[in-house]
Amino acid sequence: MSDYDFDLFVIGAGSGGVRAARMAAAEGVGVAVAEQSRTGGTCVNLGCVPKKLYVHAAEYGAGFLQAPGFGWQSQLPSFDWSRLRDNKSAAIHRLNVLYEEMLEKSGVQLLKGSARLIDAHSVEVSGKTYRAERILLATGSRPFVPDFPGNQHILTSDQIFDLEQLPKRLLIVGGGYIATEFAGIFHGLGVEVSQLYRGELFLRGFDTEICEFVAEQMRRKGIHLNFNSEVLSIEKKTDKTFIATLQDQTQIETDCILYATGRRPNSAGLGLENLPIEQTENGAIKVDDCYQSSVPSVYALGDLIDRLQLTPVALEEAMVLVANLYRGKTVKFDYQLIPTAVFSQPNIGTVGLSEAQALQQYPSVDIYTSNFRSLKHALSDSGERVLMKILVDPASDKVLGVHMAGEHAAEIIQGISIALKAGATKAVFDQTIGIHPTSAEEFVTMRSKIRTAQIG
Ligand code: NDP
Repeated sequence: MSDYDFDLFVIGAGSGGVRAARMAAAEGVGVAVAEQSRTGGTCVNLGCVPKKLYVHAAEYGAGFLQAPGFGWQSQLPSFDWSRLRDNKSAAIHRLNVLYEEMLEKSGVQLLKGSARLIDAHSVEVSGKTYRAERILLATGSRPFVPDFPGNQHILTSDQIFDLEQLPKRLLIVGGGYIATEFAGIFHGLGVEVSQLYRGELFLRGFDTEICEFVAEQMRRKGIHLNFNSEVLSIEKKTDKTFIATLQDQTQIETDCILYATGRRPNSAGLGLENLPIEQTENGAIKVDDCYQSSVPSVYALGDLIDRLQLTPVALEEAMVLVANLYRGKTVKFDYQLIPTAVFSQPNIGTVGLSEAQALQQYPSVDIYTSNFRSLKHALSDSGERVLMKILVDPASDKVLGVHMAGEHAAEIIQGISIALKAGATKAVFDQTIGIHPTSAEEFVTMRSKIRTAQIG
């Protein structure tokens, strides 16, 4: 280490930062991590983990409604928001402690406080300057809220998990992952939910047929979806409720407003002005395939580089970085075929190309779909259905994309993504024996092509 206090100084103890720190330390590297807030970053504290706990809570709501069909006769149980919220906080606190212990056991020094770059090898934390051979920026992202009159009245995903009280009515603005997931969560908890999206159909980038299906299923459950809708202003009334005025002058009265209109890289306050580090227009750090910035000793990964804002992506970027820096490897992250899920109601799971994306790369695409009611709902009156879709290149028989909307979609697509990563053809899907009775078996029994999509 000679001239340096550390070989690697990581700023940000979120998913990517902690993984890089631990893996580097395992290679005998002297590592410090600075964190100004709780360890675990967005995923653990204000993202994936609390969100999934709330998704489970919401699914109980649906389960109680379906139970009478299976012979369970009882009063609908009441829901206690404060218990869910506080149990969630306790579970997250346990994870924070676990993260700190994990870092300590790995030999990583955790420095609590806000860190600022001083120069290419120096970082200041709480008034003390540390020198490091390399610096890794892994400070993640933060919610973006557009500028409009009344935007001080809205909440973001940073506040929504810890509401004092469960609102009766919730207005959600945005059509991405967070907006759609929270629409399902709060509806499942008994809140009257309206979701507004500025475009034709939410979840832009996902397969259109899947999005249309999910929209229909959400509406059937009673979630109010308003597309082609934009908020002009928000006003707070004396009774502490809100009125949102839309661009067509209609008004929505509500008790709480959640904005989920994207996240921006968390690069402000990092001292980037002290170094010639190149950034994109939205503040993301520009890096090469090895996550090296324009200042050779400074690296960045995760949401801060704004490639794919997904925890498993940040983790893999960290693994690639450490392999290249400290294990003598020359590896690159293959960003193809990254499976993803929206934990909406119903869940969406997807891997590979959407129909629109496939048609940009292939002259024609064979489409296989299955739209069915799962056995579970044969005895409930929920009307819930499942949609599965497989896209195949007719020339090579290669499966280009697999999409699902329905219960356990995320779990099922995780398995399917292994097959796609291995280059599976439709013939391989057809040769695979199903597990009966499951929804997942449909993926290996979809023998009849529904149509062939062609450009134009
Ligand atoms: P997304 O990028 O998914 O969606 C943002 C939404 O806000 C889009 O519908 C976008 O519309 C809309 N929007 C953007 N700007 C405005 C504006 N000025 N006015 C009105 N609407 C606007 O962001 P999220 O905030 O939902 O989530 C952030 C990221 O976090 C995601 O990209 C995802 O990577 C990650 N995440 C992943 C999850 C998972 O893996 N399950 C769960 C939650 C988050 P348009 O489409 O027209 O641009």
